[in-house]
Amino acid sequence: MFEKSIKAYVEAQKVMPGGVNSPVRAFKSVGMNPVFIDHAKGSKLYDIDGNEYIDYVLSWGPLILGHADDQVIGKLQEVAARGTSFGAPTEIETKLAELVISRVASVEMLRMVNSGTEATMSALRLARGATGRNKIVKFIGCYHGHEDSLLVKAGSGVLTLGLPDSPGVPAGVTEDTLTVNYNDLEAVAELFATYGSDIAAVIVEPVGGNMGCVPPVAGFLEGLRKITAENGALLIFDEVMTGFRVDYHCAQGLYSIEPDLTCFGKIIGGGLPVGAYGGKREFMEQVAPVGSVYQAGTLSGNPLAMTAGFETLSQLTKESYQELERLGDKLLNGLQDVADKYAVPFVTHRVGAMFGIFFTNEKVIDFTTAKTSDTNAFALFFKTMLENGIYLAPSQFESGFLSTAHSDADIEKTLAAADVAFKVVSEH
Ligand code: PMP
Repeated sequence: MFEKSIKAYVEAQKVMPGGVNSPVRAFKSVGMNPVFIDHAKGSKLYDIDGNEYIDYVLSWGPLILGHADDQVIGKLQEVAARGTSFGAPTEIETKLAELVISRVASVEMLRMVNSGTEATMSALRLARGATGRNKIVKFIGCYHGHEDSLLVKAGSGVLTLGLPDSPGVPAGVTEDTLTVNYNDLEAVAELFATYGSDIAAVIVEPVGGNMGCVPPVAGFLEGLRKITAENGALLIFDEVMTGFRVDYHCAQGLYSIEPDLTCFGKIIGGGLPVGAYGGKREFMEQVAPVGSVYQAGTLSGNPLAMTAGFETLSQLTKESYQELERLGDKLLNGLQDVADKYAVPFVTHRVGAMFGIFFTNEKVIDFTTAKTSDTNAFALFFKTMLENGIYLAPSQFESGFLSTAHSDADIEKTLAAADVAFKVVSEH
């Protein structure tokens, strides 16, 4: 069923490292060849062999309206015909910024960049510039993009591929990065007791998404808010994944916490390359050209990316998120039922339209407990689901996503495939 994809992968590997432009796409951790995509629409992906899949990856999160949404594509075509980039201001940049600001209470000003990596990198520079301090605190298993100083005990592909640190990152660059376990407030307090006056910021995924989906335990985010405020450090929410995915008002709205800076990506670009960082005016006005913290970008705020983001966000209503909750419940409860039927150790997490599945009996609260998941069982589950028309993230340590284009019929088909897959897992 994958003949053409297998051939395409042979060719791709001759000219690109691992045949891909981003590591997890290579399906390495599930021991398979990647599927090459031909096109997609709504909740469905179609590969070059003509197979159809219900897609729970959604380009790793951006496509909350599903693939090739008519309104997004229609506007993009219109805008593209007028020019793709000017390197000069356009009104659509202001419109998208206004829209984000209107939904996210802590964000008073916003700077657009081109990826989540750029957003976190720039937010850190701003935090260091604003505080005159160098150290940052990050959580083990949280991934904030491939910026050098954040590529320490990161999640996502780095976790999957077992590269705790990357060669090419000088020790000097990471010596100011302090790492602690996710959900471990006491460890954060200890770090502050030792290094408090040197810490510029704590950066956190408000819902962990890159060690699988790991929600914050009660009090964790509140504790981070309190401890950073008491020590004059900034709290940075990396909402690249959670932004407009877990709630209409993002994770910070869902948990009622106001960080100092927020990083965005994925959904705010509606499937085109976009990132952004924003926050309180007093900090954002320190960014050039108003302030002296330098950050720039040739294609930043280009009209295509801004349009895709604007047309995506403007279609999302509070009701959209209620519907995503309903579908999410149906999917995850359904999966748990099937796992229980075959007595497969299985834990699910879901926050809004973001979810994680773990093949374990342990309570998963951080990277250590996430690692108790049986990755061989996951690989078998993944392969069987794929062969039955369900496209999941090809790694245990990633989150799954739902879109407003997913239907009850999609969920039912997914659960039927899961019945086959859990049976296979239980027999191994
Ligand atoms: N932060 C988080 C929380 C992410 O999940 C990701 C990517 N998955 C990034 C940052 C990096 O974003 P990008 O891949 O767009 O550089």
